[in-house]
Amino acid sequence: MSEVFKGNFTQQEPISEEAIAAAVDVMRTGRLHRYNLSEGEVGEASLLEQEFAQSVGAKFCIAVASGGYAMGCALRAMGVGAGDKVLTNAFTLAPVPGAIASVGAVPVFVGVTEGLVIDLDDLETKADQADVLMLSHMRGHICDMDALMAICAQHNIRVIEDCAHTMGGSWRGVPSGRFGQMACYSTQTYKHMNSGEGGLLISDDAELMARATILSGSYMLYGRNGAVPEAEVFERVKYDTPNVSGRMDHLRAAILRPQLRKLSDSVAAWNARHDVILDGLRETPGLTVVERPEGEGYVGSSIQFLLLDWSVDKINAVLKRCLARGVELKWFGGAEPVAFTSRYDSWRYAPSAPMPKSDRILKGIVDMRIPLTFSLEDCALIARIIKAEVGAVFQSG
Ligand SMILES: *Cc1c(COP(=O)(O)O)cnc(C)c1O
Repeated sequence: MSEVFKGNFTQQEPISEEAIAAAVDVMRTGRLHRYNLSEGEVGEASLLEQEFAQSVGAKFCIAVASGGYAMGCALRAMGVGAGDKVLTNAFTLAPVPGAIASVGAVPVFVGVTEGLVIDLDDLETKADQADVLMLSHMRGHICDMDALMAICAQHNIRVIEDCAHTMGGSWRGVPSGRFGQMACYSTQTYKHMNSGEGGLLISDDAELMARATILSGSYMLYGRNGAVPEAEVFERVKYDTPNVSGRMDHLRAAILRPQLRKLSDSVAAWNARHDVILDGLRETPGLTVVERPEGEGYVGSSIQFLLLDWSVDKINAVLKRCLARGVELKWFGGAEPVAFTSRYDSWRYAPSAPMPKSDRILKGIVDMRIPLTFSLEDCALIARIIKAEVGAVFQSG
């Protein structure tokens, strides 16, 4: 009898008792709005901003309603508007081109490598088409950031980092999000901290962050924020920056602060699980594992492997056979966008030219979540199942 996995791929860990107690305390006050503070009170939202800024070494931080909101807000703060082009990854998820489209701008897609990072040669080729790059560290794969920043400096490209999958990650010891002018994080349930919905935006640039704070809906109460620039910077921007509300409330901030304190434990737990699966998948005929480069401090909250040059039928056979044994895989190569996965050419509002080298890779990307509710034994079992089913389909000729 073949083994079957019984776990649930979308089941997160519960919110800790400490975080629940903090949320209950906020509810008892009735003051959920971030600017509703008693005399002298700093408030959960501002405390979260201070603590998050400190955790990554950023000067400024604002807590917002979602990761997608943070990205749109960053683009607006940089002055990106209707008709402007923005470079971004072809391999990413829908909220990334969506944030670009939300300000009326047009994505210019840059290809993906077999290491699942942005193709720096393609970036160089397209560098003259835009002066902003929305860099998505998709599925936690971090490119050679030194090389990327050198290309961007040479072409006067400002970088916004989408760190939805790299909160807690780093490149050569520098936290992900500390390379670009601004960086965006998500605290949506399927990311690295869970407040249902939520986002964080960081930068060291005072003027950009003053704009972003007013954009986020500060009602000119920005003096109550936790990690924002001096009042004089706001004086320069406050009359010509619109309010596009997208604040975070105290309730979400309250449950995030205890999670931030244990983020490094979560990262270690994810990586232990990721590495068990990665090791279990090595030397599977027909399957290419994605090795983690030296210098990448990754967060293994998901894992990807490649079935390069496999036919659609065979890939579908693998997905079906794994699912029958309880292992839920996602495929990025499907012609139709399904659940969270989609291809750059399925975003029809954003024109794109085919990218044959990247298309070959995208067609082979298989993706799996690794919730922390899985044990290391679960992970070893999952790897055995994938290995067996990929092997069976591969050998079927
Ligand atoms: C989830 C996600 C976002 C946006 O986060 P939301 O909080 O859901 O808006 C951005 N980029 C990537 C790659 C994501 O997966």
